[in-house]
Amino acid sequence: MTNPTVGFISLGCPKALVDSERILTQLRAEGYDISSSFEGADLVVVNTCGFIDEAVQESLDAIGEALEENGKVIVTGCLGKRDLVKETHPRVLAVTGPHATAEVMQAIHTHLPRPHDPFTDLVPEQGIRLTPSHYAYLKISEGCNHRCSFCIIPSMRGDLVSRPIGEVMREAEALVKAGVKELLVVSQDTSAYGVDLRHRTDFVNGRPVKTHFFELAKELGELGVWVRLHYVYPYPHVDEVLGLMAEGKLLPYLDIPFQHGHPEVLKRMKRPAAAEKVLARIQNWRKICPDLTLRSTFIAGFPGETEAEFQTLLDFLTEAQIDRLGCFAYSPVEGATANQLSNPVPEALRLERQERVMAHQAPISQARLRRWVGRRIRVLIDAIDEEEGCLLARGPGDAPEIDGLVRIWPDPNSRHAMPVRLGEWTEVDIVDSDEYDLEAVWVASEASAPAETSTVN
Ligand code: SF4
Repeated sequence: MTNPTVGFISLGCPKALVDSERILTQLRAEGYDISSSFEGADLVVVNTCGFIDEAVQESLDAIGEALEENGKVIVTGCLGKRDLVKETHPRVLAVTGPHATAEVMQAIHTHLPRPHDPFTDLVPEQGIRLTPSHYAYLKISEGCNHRCSFCIIPSMRGDLVSRPIGEVMREAEALVKAGVKELLVVSQDTSAYGVDLRHRTDFVNGRPVKTHFFELAKELGELGVWVRLHYVYPYPHVDEVLGLMAEGKLLPYLDIPFQHGHPEVLKRMKRPAAAEKVLARIQNWRKICPDLTLRSTFIAGFPGETEAEFQTLLDFLTEAQIDRLGCFAYSPVEGATANQLSNPVPEALRLERQERVMAHQAPISQARLRRWVGRRIRVLIDAIDEEEGCLLARGPGDAPEIDGLVRIWPDPNSRHAMPVRLGEWTEVDIVDSDEYDLEAVWVASEASAPAETSTVN
């Protein structure tokens, strides 16, 4: 007898990816088979994204395709919080919001009853993951206590709910045990971790530890793998983790969505930490940890943004010298309170300002990356580029998917072929850089010399 098979489509951000992993893990635990295509699937689950209008459209299209190709569709994820799904696709069997493994499973049990003999032993201890086996996202909390005027995430995901530190650390340890070399800490507001629990004490391997951002960073820093912090806000207590980065316990990397450089715009955005002295704080961080890579995102053309305010944003970028930067033209997401602000910026001007930000930033990013040239650094190998004959890796300053790469070339003076060890760290010499990526030469050592089954010459 074959097991019931669930097709799965996962859209959206790393937080949504973690939700998908949980559902997939539960499905396998209960003995369902999983298919990445519609054919052969008895039912399809679509995990949607509702962040910006393009993502909404992509999600609606994916649901439409699943209905057409398969017919039995359950929708979950951010878009599920909105009536849009049922209105556009009334044939879907069930709709849930994000972070709803139990509800999704209930809907699956109703429409595709679970098998009698679950093969629980088929599920590895660390669950089912959609990322390559050497890195994993670690979701530490769900929801957000802020109400940024351009964002509808709190209305979809609710207020901050942190996972107790013992539970997070158990998951982190299981991932490391399963071979993960890099943990990417994600949430909506990483620096607020534990606030909702009043930093309650929990137990990590029998020791009492507070559910707090710094304590979590310290514990993760002891696991002996790369730990990368995403979605951090520049609150004063963030300064404390810079010491851990300088000690090599955490990657010297902070992903902080600043969004703008003008105090009035930040106030209209209702940004957390709008009043913080961000530039002084950045300078101080770099003093503590000179290798720090700062990643950030900005919004150009926010409602009411004057030319002078926009200029302040460009000046802020010149001062801040951010390493990795993304910029969105303001997108009036349905339901966001910012849409009611006066003096909206016309779309053409929003796009023009977005381009100006990127053009302004390009030489800054290029200059920042150049500081690695001439240094020997540790990188994590992600893939092999067969055509070019190089390895594709990432250094401390490169988060997967969003940042740049380190291309590793064989050492022309070495008699050893370059070994391919996907998902492993290696030492490289950085020899060149551009705006996004670094070029490196593999460092031959006695440890890496033995013949490998797979090599690049
Ligand atoms: S901090 Fe602001 S932008 Fe981020 S999730 Fe919360 S409300 Fe949205």
